[in-house]
Amino acid sequence: MSAEGVNLQKELNPLANAERQFDEAASRLNLPEGIREIIKRPRRETIVSLPLQLDDGTFRVFTGYRVQHSIVRGPAKGGIRYHPDVTLDEVAALAAWMTWKCAVVNIPFGGGKGGIACDPTQLSKGELERLTRRYAADLSDLFGPESDVPAPDVGTNEQVMAWFMDTYSMHERRTETAVVTGKPLDIGGSLGRREATGRGVLFCVREACKHLGTPLAGARVAVQGFGNVGSISAELMRHDGAKIVAVADVTGAIHDPEGLDIPVLLRYMADRRGVKGFPGSKPLDTSIIEYDCDILVPAALENQITHENADRVRAKIVAEGANGPTTPDADRVLEQKGVFVIPDILCNSGGVTVSYFEWVQNRMGFYWPEHEVNTRLEHTMVNAFNDVLVKAVGNKVNMRVAAFMVAIERVVKVIMLRGVYA
Ligand code: NAD
Repeated sequence: MSAEGVNLQKELNPLANAERQFDEAASRLNLPEGIREIIKRPRRETIVSLPLQLDDGTFRVFTGYRVQHSIVRGPAKGGIRYHPDVTLDEVAALAAWMTWKCAVVNIPFGGGKGGIACDPTQLSKGELERLTRRYAADLSDLFGPESDVPAPDVGTNEQVMAWFMDTYSMHERRTETAVVTGKPLDIGGSLGRREATGRGVLFCVREACKHLGTPLAGARVAVQGFGNVGSISAELMRHDGAKIVAVADVTGAIHDPEGLDIPVLLRYMADRRGVKGFPGSKPLDTSIIEYDCDILVPAALENQITHENADRVRAKIVAEGANGPTTPDADRVLEQKGVFVIPDILCNSGGVTVSYFEWVQNRMGFYWPEHEVNTRLEHTMVNAFNDVLVKAVGNKVNMRVAAFMVAIERVVKVIMLRGVYA
């Protein structure tokens, strides 16, 4: 491989990127000796082989992962991803980001993440259920409301969480709703959880607009990824008066400088399973990352803004709905260009915040009306945004470095109180 290829591969390794982000912030803090190494490393990494009997009677073996990055502030918390490209490095990076995310919004959880390297679109419903149950059963020693609480991520949904909860409950011989969040409402899910990540993106964008003195009403927004996070944040921003001028998903990218009709697009997508061909829109032949807009919401996967395209970003605000969409090399370029980046560990933390509310409601056995969930979410996110902004301004650093600084300080404070059992 050429030197450039090796450098690109390095730039796109999510674990290396998560560690660079951590190091940059940690080096600005006066951390007690040795503590940096303790909080940087994952607490536990588990890999399992998961045999699955396919509908045709044959067997295939999949690889499953669960990484607990930290349980210092509370149970490990983080989703389960079903995607062909899932690797240990990716899961470990996502687990570390969960630790920092939970600390930024100041909820009493650590960080974890799991995944199975599989293509869920190629499995039948029965096969998906059996694979989920095997994963939940094989790793059941790790999971529990007090130890490790999964949630949905890319390629998993409420149904997968329901199978997970049932499997865990069968092994425990009692119904345990709080072992997983993002469940269907009828089995202990929270009102507002489905919309929570997109709503959190909206709250952060509102605060960023206030800080920069630019109105959200009338702002032109481009959204990459039109699943749970992308579609809901787009619809909520449209509701606040923004114009959604371009959207992209795995089927293609479309645009309309006059603004796309998002409610109609959502109905269109329900039939067509993608945004491509939406009547009245034009196909986009350049990358949506480079689209002429005020606000860019990357809400698909990692590594979408790299050193190769960062210079062509035209948005003034990048609101990271996805985890890890911007590489550290790209971050530098965006900072030099004066782009205001709302980092993933802050911007998409609405999901884990309402997951926390779901876990609290499960443990109380008492459920809140939706307005209460949304009001508490807004309060939590606005506080977190302002904690990070104050840190950024006070230390003359960008919002990502500031968010990591806030998070690392909170984790370290708890470690110093608890002491290191070494
Ligand atoms: P999802 O599966 O509902 O949607 C993903 C979307 O991305 C789909 O529209 C898909 O077509 C699109 N996509 C995939 N590859 C693409 C590509 N190359 N170009 C353009 N679009 C592409 O997933 P989601 O739950 O919306 O998660 C999206 C991101 O947000 C992930 O990074 C996830 O980790 C992060 N996230 C999700 C939540 C949540 O609560 N769902 C919370 C925090 C962070």
